[in-house]
Amino acid sequence: MSEPEFRTIFEPFRIHSVEPMRSTTRQYRRQALSTAGYNLFQVDAQDVLIDLLTDSGTGAMSRDQWAALQHGDESYAGSPSFYLFRDAVQSLFPFTHVIPTHQGRAAERILFSVIGGPGKIIPNNTHFDTTRANIEFTGATAIDLVIPEASDPQADLPFKGNMDLEALDSLLATRADDVPAVVVTITNNSGGGQPVSLANLRAVRRLCDAYGKPLFIDACRFAENAWFIREREEGQNSRSVTDIVREIASLADGMTMSAKKDPMGNIGGWLALNDDDLAQRCRDLLILTEGFPTYGGLAGRDLEALAQGLSEAVDHTYLHYRIRSTAYVGDALRDAGIPVLSPTGGHAVYIDARAMLPHIDPLAYPGQSLALALYEMGGVRTCEIGTAMFGRQPDGSERPAALDLVRLAIPRRTYTQSHMDYVIEVCRKVAAEASELPGYRITREPATLRHFTAVFEPLPR
Ligand SMILES: *Cc1c(COP(=O)(O)O)cnc(C)c1O
Repeated sequence: MSEPEFRTIFEPFRIHSVEPMRSTTRQYRRQALSTAGYNLFQVDAQDVLIDLLTDSGTGAMSRDQWAALQHGDESYAGSPSFYLFRDAVQSLFPFTHVIPTHQGRAAERILFSVIGGPGKIIPNNTHFDTTRANIEFTGATAIDLVIPEASDPQADLPFKGNMDLEALDSLLATRADDVPAVVVTITNNSGGGQPVSLANLRAVRRLCDAYGKPLFIDACRFAENAWFIREREEGQNSRSVTDIVREIASLADGMTMSAKKDPMGNIGGWLALNDDDLAQRCRDLLILTEGFPTYGGLAGRDLEALAQGLSEAVDHTYLHYRIRSTAYVGDALRDAGIPVLSPTGGHAVYIDARAMLPHIDPLAYPGQSLALALYEMGGVRTCEIGTAMFGRQPDGSERPAALDLVRLAIPRRTYTQSHMDYVIEVCRKVAAEASELPGYRITREPATLRHFTAVFEPLPR
């Protein structure tokens, strides 16, 4: 008997505990935006109906994760919860040293404080905002070397997050002494949640070997990346995600990690690596700001929840649902004529705001304008990833980012398909009014990571 095939997107869980959602009026939200200085990071979460600001720490934990919390051991040193966590990390990423941190950026700060510094250059396919900021904070330079097709929002490639191997080779050929490590981000968050192929990772490894450089992975969405490899890369379809993840780990010398992404945590991260001496220097810094090496800024219960979350992150039924439900939103927006970055990424759908709002100059932040309009229209909070986030240069000047995107990041296991249908409807309504949206200017901004706290003001039409 053949197995029936069904097309319905099926959330592979049922709801066990519910959270109320709060509706507001358009007029109320318009006022909330003005109060927040037209910055969605400054809007109160209770004034948001559907929150797609980020998929970071916003997922729903499973029954088994909540149960694991009760098992947490809060001993200051040598907690059994740490060993459980370390073993869960090493079962996927068998690095010698696993150093817990309170989130991903703490791992970045520690690693780059040790290996960065003035005159150093760190190449990456695309640096995430906190990665870039932590590198630049040490005086080092962060360089993005993603393949050129990544900057074409419509180029439909299976592995659009790949490193530009020629560019990496020529950087290493001329500046090898200044490069302490090469980083690859999987999936490429700032470049649209696009995956990196195994073939590309293997080639980066070969280049690192040729120049004697360590390779670190920024592995926040390793499971989604491995699923894309399984689905899209020649010869990978019969492998388990776990097996693919282990091969990825075997190609690297270490990793930085935000456990708020694929590991299903509400908080957490880690730094893992093989080099004993480097690990020692990182642990010394860890103790200074994060805590003792067996908890690193986390409670024992968090470590338990992460250990359990890691086993759920690589489940094929979950990953099938995860990637398909994200693609569903991308397909629906494309069908509505809204320019969406193709192909749809793993954790998010990215609207090409520069294409959707051609009347707004990139230096007047079309992505910011679109994100604000989505909130005002339907209480949907998204995130600008464009000139507001990346436009300010280290010398204080302002330049358009490569792309002006609005990211609809989808928290894990949190919203249902009808919630997504509502989001799609909100996007369609905003698209119908797109030509009336204003540009913005910044009236106040901090020196780094300005998008979190900058104050904006609409430009006169
Ligand atoms: C989220 C993220 C980070 C930073 O992690 P936090 O836990 O937010 O500090 C680093 N790199 C990438 C690719 C990310 O998505």
